[in-house]
Amino acid sequence: MMQGSTAGPDVPAYGSAADLRAMADAVPALLSFFDADLICRYANAYHRQWYGRPPEEMVGLHMREFLGERGYVSRGPFLRRVLAGEEVSFDATVPHADGTWRDAAIRYRPRHGPQGLLGFHVLVFDTAVHQHRFHSLFDGKGIAFLELDLSRLAGTLEQLRAEGVERLAATIASDPGFVRRFVGLTHLADLNEKAASLFGLDREAAIGTVFGALCPPAAEPVLAANLLAYVGGERGFEEETVMLRADGQPLEVRLTSAFPQQGERQDRVFLGVIDIGARVRQDRRLAQLETDLAHAARVATLGELTASIAHEVNQPLAAVTANGDAALRWLRRPVPDLDEVEAAIRRVIEEGRRASEIIARTRALATKGTTKRALFDPNGMIEDAAALVRRQVASLGAELRLDLAPALPPVLADRVQLQQVVINLVVNAAQAMLQGPEGPRLVVVASGERAGTVVVEVSDTGPGIGEEAVPRLFEAFYTTKASGMGMGLSVSRTIVESHGGWIRAGGAPMGGAVFSFGIPVPEPARASGGPDGGGA
Ligand code: ADP
Repeated sequence: MMQGSTAGPDVPAYGSAADLRAMADAVPALLSFFDADLICRYANAYHRQWYGRPPEEMVGLHMREFLGERGYVSRGPFLRRVLAGEEVSFDATVPHADGTWRDAAIRYRPRHGPQGLLGFHVLVFDTAVHQHRFHSLFDGKGIAFLELDLSRLAGTLEQLRAEGVERLAATIASDPGFVRRFVGLTHLADLNEKAASLFGLDREAAIGTVFGALCPPAAEPVLAANLLAYVGGERGFEEETVMLRADGQPLEVRLTSAFPQQGERQDRVFLGVIDIGARVRQDRRLAQLETDLAHAARVATLGELTASIAHEVNQPLAAVTANGDAALRWLRRPVPDLDEVEAAIRRVIEEGRRASEIIARTRALATKGTTKRALFDPNGMIEDAAALVRRQVASLGAELRLDLAPALPPVLADRVQLQQVVINLVVNAAQAMLQGPEGPRLVVVASGERAGTVVVEVSDTGPGIGEEAVPRLFEAFYTTKASGMGMGLSVSRTIVESHGGWIRAGGAPMGGAVFSFGIPVPEPARASGGPDGGGA
């Protein structure tokens, strides 16, 4: 559109007094100039809209006549500052021709001449529209809003920003009390009625109280991520977590934070809080149904498998018994027929071999055929497995944490099968903690590399494993659970060993059990040092 419209001889250089006046009149805000005696010397056309009077009439008036006594008195401190030569910005209300007082953002900018201060420019920008939008949202009944006051952390925030996000992440990781102290110094600047009723608070009484009182320890990872996003200069942050009602009941919520932008108060953060309790409960019920179903399916398959094994093995067993009987009969004869005895025993051995072949075939069937090996990042596999079981773990009242070593070399394995191993170990850990001692129920999945082997460790804070149980854990059908199958660990061991790895159980430093398994890293990956370590 603009192409070709280069300034020709008939377009005057923009900048004459008339041009500038036309421009000032086009601005949808109050623009004016007052001299050092506070007499208006210029007012743009927008004054007609605001004050209902032509701007020419306003020129020559004292500021007191513009604003009325009340407005004028409230401007005192700002006028003193601009008259001292300082540029001043502030928010205030301004009388409007419609009889209301409007919220406005105001700026006074001093203008100096050779003899000193000539006066000052005034810009008054109507913020009522924005304020109105904001308030109708904030005061609405739909979403709970909290306005957080971080003013007591102003110095800390400045320092954190200067040091950068990575440093903050390291601090949070090494100082477990950091987030707690942070929310302990954050206060509620305001909250709407919806938030008050959601948290069971009295709105008036809650203003000025500590935000940390609404944050249980389980919310700390999300609060830490929130803080990292803020310090990292993001515009906002969104995540699901648990908060605390005033009566101590947990509250499942989706948090949406809006961080201050440039030019806004840096010590205020807005938090939208949506109650997702009903949805989470429904999800849990579904997850429970899913696991019940999966369990039922497993029982069914195992039942079928058992029936067919029994059927196939029954024939050779019957033959073994029959031939054993026959051998005895030949032996008990007055003159034992040793040739017949030998023939019967040979058949016994043959049938026995047949039975064990059937077992071997069934076992191979359970592990072979479906394996698909590929190179993949073990951490990604663990994260996927964790995503699959997180809900089930939560519904057992436990928390799942990952502690993954960065840049692990890829392994060559069947990803789905190893995922199954991780899931088995995590679910076992969460189930074990149902009987465990009081206190935090925590499952930690850690990864690392030791001597050319990727090692995955699943530790818990449950009751641990009795010494007598250790040698039997990985046997098929060993279980201490009422509805257990005792197949999980045995299948896990089969999977890991078919990958040339190992699996073992022991006591965890946290007091519960720790199960670890190792999968050897293929040679070339070992040399390159990691999934991204292309190089040599
Ligand atoms: P199931 O879960 O059906 O019992 P598994 O083979 O997965 O079968 O587990 C066998 C047994 O090992 C469990 O019944 C339990 O006694 C024990 N076990 C497994 N994991 C743990 C753990 N994290 N803490 C304590 N005991 C465990």
